[in-house]
Amino acid sequence: MNAARSPLLLGLTGSPLGHSLSPRLHTAALAACGLAGEYALFPVPPLPEGAADLAVLIGRVRSGELRGLNVTIPHKRSVLPLLDALTPAAEAIGAVNTIYMEGNRLTGENTDAAGFWMDVKRCFDLAPAPGLVPPVDRSVPGERWLALLLGAGGGARAAAWALLQAGWEVRVSARQAGQAAALLREIGGDAEQVLAWPLEPAALDGWTPDLIVNATPLGMSPHSDASPWPERVPFPAGACIYDLVYNPRETLFVRRARAAGLRAETGLGMLVEQAARAFEIWTGCPPPRGALWTAVDP
Ligand code: NAP
Repeated sequence: MNAARSPLLLGLTGSPLGHSLSPRLHTAALAACGLAGEYALFPVPPLPEGAADLAVLIGRVRSGELRGLNVTIPHKRSVLPLLDALTPAAEAIGAVNTIYMEGNRLTGENTDAAGFWMDVKRCFDLAPAPGLVPPVDRSVPGERWLALLLGAGGGARAAAWALLQAGWEVRVSARQAGQAAALLREIGGDAEQVLAWPLEPAALDGWTPDLIVNATPLGMSPHSDASPWPERVPFPAGACIYDLVYNPRETLFVRRARAAGLRAETGLGMLVEQAARAFEIWTGCPPPRGALWTAVDP
């Protein structure tokens, strides 16, 4: 069989996978680009139980049987020892969500960072730098924009790396202060810029974040009555609010911020953009963004 004409096999591993929107996104992208193929789910339990299955699955990418593989919880870090190379984003963030062969090297990328950054720029048009690379000259006075991240897990690491690459100053509030400091230290930020959790009104004395990002699951369905932003803390005037949570489409955090007159968005666009980037890496096709949006937000 001519490999170039074989249907493209793409997929997602992790556990659980039942609620993932990735099959909808990539199936729509394949159709919109006129590519024959399939995006399959490969559930693999957490390590150590899933170790052998994960290695076999990754081997299917190395052999070319699978053109590309997305990786989600709990394997974004467990795949690292199985790969030959990491992109700068994956290396800095310490987690991979997209695997592919580049030449003869099995390569891991983290498209969450670019997905976050692309969507923040789309939503708020506030980025001082045109893209992730090259970074702006951080020594130029007045060039620094300020971001406050809530949470210090994988999503926060991707967002922090993207913001730092673009020359922003990043502060983190998380319930584990040590995890927040480690995030900043490991990703190239200032490990002193850790704020207490939950935020106190005084935490914002003397500075105003340009962007506030929720990178906790607070507010995610079915716990949609929760918010990472304490009611006793007034929203800073002029701040843009970005909630990585996208289910529900309007979280309580975003609803309250909008009611206070702020621009605020949930993270469906980040999900679309991280998929768009992965699809482009695997297929070389320009991502069909209209089809991707229609697939998840008809
Ligand atoms: P994660 O790695 O588990 O990190 C979650 C962070 O939130 C950790 O700092 C965690 O603290 C904190 N946290 C969890 N529950 C909390 C609570 N009840 N109160 C205070 N802090 C709490 O998760 P993640 O992968 O970063 O994902 C976070 C959210 O972003 C999820 O809702 C996820 O669906 C969403 N997300 C969206 C996209 C997108 O494309 N839009 C991409 C990535 C993630 P501990 O470490 O102490 O538990």
